[in-house]
Amino acid sequence: MLDTYQGAATIEKVAALARRRGFVYPSSDIYGGLGSSYDYGHYGVLLKQNVKAEWQRALVQEREDVVMLDSAIILHPQVWVASGHVGGFSDPLVDCRTCKLRFRADHLGQSACGRKPSKHPGETADCDLTEARQFNLMFETSIGPVRDEGSVAYLRPETAQGIFVNFKNVTSSLRVKPPFGIAQIGKSFRNEITPGNFLFRMREFEQMEMEFFVPPDESTRWFEYWVEARRQWYLGLGMRESHLRVRPHDPDELSHYSSGTSDLEYLFPIGWSELEGIANRGDYDLNAHATASGTKLEWIGHEERYLPHVIEPAAGADRAALAFLVDAYDEEEVAGDQRTVLRLHPRLAPVKVAVLPLIGKDAGLVEKARPLYEDLRRALPSEYDDSASIGKRYRRQDEIGTPWALTIDHDTLADGTITIRDRDSLEQERIPLERAKAILLERLEAPWTPRA
Ligand code: ATP
Repeated sequence: MLDTYQGAATIEKVAALARRRGFVYPSSDIYGGLGSSYDYGHYGVLLKQNVKAEWQRALVQEREDVVMLDSAIILHPQVWVASGHVGGFSDPLVDCRTCKLRFRADHLGQSACGRKPSKHPGETADCDLTEARQFNLMFETSIGPVRDEGSVAYLRPETAQGIFVNFKNVTSSLRVKPPFGIAQIGKSFRNEITPGNFLFRMREFEQMEMEFFVPPDESTRWFEYWVEARRQWYLGLGMRESHLRVRPHDPDELSHYSSGTSDLEYLFPIGWSELEGIANRGDYDLNAHATASGTKLEWIGHEERYLPHVIEPAAGADRAALAFLVDAYDEEEVAGDQRTVLRLHPRLAPVKVAVLPLIGKDAGLVEKARPLYEDLRRALPSEYDDSASIGKRYRRQDEIGTPWALTIDHDTLADGTITIRDRDSLEQERIPLERAKAILLERLEAPWTPRA
């Protein structure tokens, strides 16, 4: 198994490209930025939307046993008491009296997890660490005009609890029966002690979580099923298999509610780090909410009645987008020039095709190119560019990961053919202009092989 990232990417290079090309900006930039907050620009929005859409396609659209939910971010405060978050969603925090920095006590001494403070490891001879104390990661807010004890509420630190508290609504309003899942995509908030590494660990991020409710005696089988299904999802979107692994948690690492958890880890330039966790949560959550709310949360069938067990694949949309960017980032020399290219799977690429008249100022070429672009953009995300030299335009499309470029030149005027350029192989092929849309749609559906 590999132990270091293979390729040209570093987190810094990917962050620089993301900023330069309009994927991701530091948040509140003109005020000096807000630590570990990021704003998504045009291409970043499109990329992250594609990640979420692929998740939804695989978990909901292509199955018949999973339904969607979009619950509120601020839930009844009792939800977080019953779930154990008010009492236990905390990390052990230590302060260094010498340098005034804060660390997670459980991360001191770790080198490649992406959470180690980069400037100050908290373990040099000068360090004077305080005792560890528990720091709750939930962001507090208050509801209503008067701020008192009764008005305290929390921004959700995970989307999962919104699913559990809707179990009864969903089972009584939709045609579902265990085994079935409820899936949700949305923002979560955690007051992380040591955020960092660009999109890897932020205080505000988006999760893609699914709670899959099963008869208790089927939970082991479904747990294994979902670990493999989720691994295949990343591979199917082009992630290099050599950079993806399943890491089962050690027994002493397991959460109190979990009888099994495996992390899917990606080999980032900062080392193997969690992309997604898949946990067998038993009946812990439904039981806790049933007890606290006094509402029965059983599955009641014709002849049976039981508290389902739950398998939870919990992924991060931003962290997945970062992993796909890192995996796709490449640099190479082409005809003496350095090119940077994002070899994103076509389904993830923000723009699928660029339409480029060879000479931007040539009215004859523009007259052919514009209608082609206007027709294509109705079928798939397309871009038109007639600025700068053709070489510069190709480089720009390479850097945003556009898999195909169509070039209209003087031969087009003579014989109705255009050039289709492949981002990865750089092959150029002449095709009839009127077949362009059909060819692109075919290529988009065709199997795609990631680089070695
Ligand atoms: P970690 O060990 O990295 O803190 P976790 O085990 O607490 O993560 P979960 O609670 O299982 O994470 O959350 C599920 C997923 O949500 C993670 O695998 C990750 O992809 C994403 N995620 C969690 N915290 C963050 C964060 N601070 N920033 C970005 N994504 C996050």
